[in-house]
Amino acid sequence: MTDWHWLFGDQLGPHFLAPGTGGPTRDSQVVMIEARSVFRRRRFHRAKAHLVLSAMRHRAAELGGRVRYIRAETYREGLYEALGDASVTVHHPTSRAALGLVRSLEQVRLLPARGFLVPQEAFAAWADERGAGRLRQEDFYRWVRHALGLLVDGDSPAGGRWNHDHANRERPPRGASTLGAPEPYRPDEDDTHHIPRLMLLGSHALQRGWDPRQVTDWFHRCFVAGYDWVMLPNVTGMSQYADGGRMTTKPYTSGGAYIHRMSDLCEGCAYRPGDRAGDRACPFTTGYWSFAHRHRDLLAANQRTARAVQGLDRLGNLEEVLATDRRWDEEAP
Ligand code: SF4
Repeated sequence: MTDWHWLFGDQLGPHFLAPGTGGPTRDSQVVMIEARSVFRRRRFHRAKAHLVLSAMRHRAAELGGRVRYIRAETYREGLYEALGDASVTVHHPTSRAALGLVRSLEQVRLLPARGFLVPQEAFAAWADERGAGRLRQEDFYRWVRHALGLLVDGDSPAGGRWNHDHANRERPPRGASTLGAPEPYRPDEDDTHHIPRLMLLGSHALQRGWDPRQVTDWFHRCFVAGYDWVMLPNVTGMSQYADGGRMTTKPYTSGGAYIHRMSDLCEGCAYRPGDRAGDRACPFTTGYWSFAHRHRDLLAANQRTARAVQGLDRLGNLEEVLATDRRWDEEAP
């Protein structure tokens, strides 16, 4: 009887087919399905769609006669077309939707995830031990480094520090020439690094109170990099604080003065990072105070953000700041 194994489009690395306990064997036949419904369910960045489809087709070409490659409307239809009711194994998919699907299909036997350093059960045990509200990424990284002996000297971090957060708060060196990049250097869309995504785009969405689900969807649509398992913790959790603070210690947002200190973006801007009212008020600055005002109670109760509320109380022209911010809400600054 043929032994079938199903590969999703983000399971193309050789380790997904490496023979191992309970997984596919060297003789397993492989099924791959291009489901049009996946691209219809959510708008994709065009380059990301190309990347995924091209990667799947190249992998299928590598596997040659070992693979049955199906184009179908849905995964369910594709699987039926490929195998009828025959049994098939699959490694734990990386999205909740795909996981729900494979669990609902009787012919599918679910195997543990591959491609992660930490098995799911180990993460679950760690999370249970700590409890909701204390799932800090920093603690998890330290635990993983200890457990796997990565970048540690005995009990201490290699190099004496667990992280470089302190250095990251320093003003970066100015000028593209320091990076060896030609002038004028402007990153293209997918070079937009994690920090501008978090510090500018995510911060703006948070300040404006946009729906976190739609913001996450927007990131999916606009960037080539990023899958659910990355976007959900980073956008929904870290950037939009929409998990209520389970993973991070505070909402991540700032006014224009911080952006000015940490970047060269404000030079030449029509707005002034230090202005919080009037025609030249920086929308990040008004947005910051408006956000602090709306969430005063929550921020006052958190020792990492209590100072923002104290600052709010010292402003003296809060009503004017809020009025300016409402203006930026209605007309693009
Ligand atoms: S001053 Fe301009 S560039 Fe600087 S943070 Fe404000 S809007 Fe952005």
